[in-house]
Amino acid sequence: MSEENYLLKGQRKRMVEDLKDKGIRDAKILDAFAKIPRHLFIGKGFEEWAYRDQAFQIECDQTISQPYTVALQTELLNLKPGDKVLEIGTGSGYQAAVLAELGAEVYTIERFKQLMETAAENLRNTGYTQVKLFYGDGWKGLPDHAPFDKIIVTAAAPEIPKQLLLQLKPGGIAVIPVGKTSSSQKMLRIKRNEDGSYSKSSHGFFRFVPMLKGKT
Ligand code: SAH
Repeated sequence: MSEENYLLKGQRKRMVEDLKDKGIRDAKILDAFAKIPRHLFIGKGFEEWAYRDQAFQIECDQTISQPYTVALQTELLNLKPGDKVLEIGTGSGYQAAVLAELGAEVYTIERFKQLMETAAENLRNTGYTQVKLFYGDGWKGLPDHAPFDKIIVTAAAPEIPKQLLLQLKPGGIAVIPVGKTSSSQKMLRIKRNEDGSYSKSSHGFFRFVPMLKGKT
């Protein structure tokens, strides 16, 4: 192992300890974080930033979410191996890699073509070639591939995207940061009940880049 890899591996271990300290308990999720080389989802030369628990700027003025946020959203999804999962906001591809590592069948949509191409390259470089990437407007979801067991939105939705909830299977779960201001959004977990009604719970406040309408 090269000296650089050794250093990064140590940093990755510390990131996982940090996630544990902050309350992430699911061993499978912690193992996924320990395994995935997060630095390969961040621009070359910025590897040292990869394992700090903070969001980091990527291309097109977007961000790779903070590790804690990725872990918490993943925990709220209550993933089972084989779950069919739709992600809105591919960004760097890191969250998609976490879902794939946990055995999900991942569909992910990004509205910047350039980001989608970089994410595809990141996922190839790290071996997550099974992730299915789509260039499009996440507000519309993927009606041709619906329904999904789980839906995760990784951009701030000003209101609950109703169209997306209709693409959930009965019993399915959506995790979405919702809020009208750019400074903070409420993390909602929305379950589609067997009778078609929805149950909502709230899981703290976060700050995401906005979920915008249309493709670029
Ligand atoms: N999950 C990402 C974090 C992405 S940041 C990661 O792990 O790196 C949010 C992303 O959502 C940005 O890339 C942004 O371009 C994208 N986005 C915003 N609105 C969107 C929409 N309507 N459809 C698809 N992607 C959208």
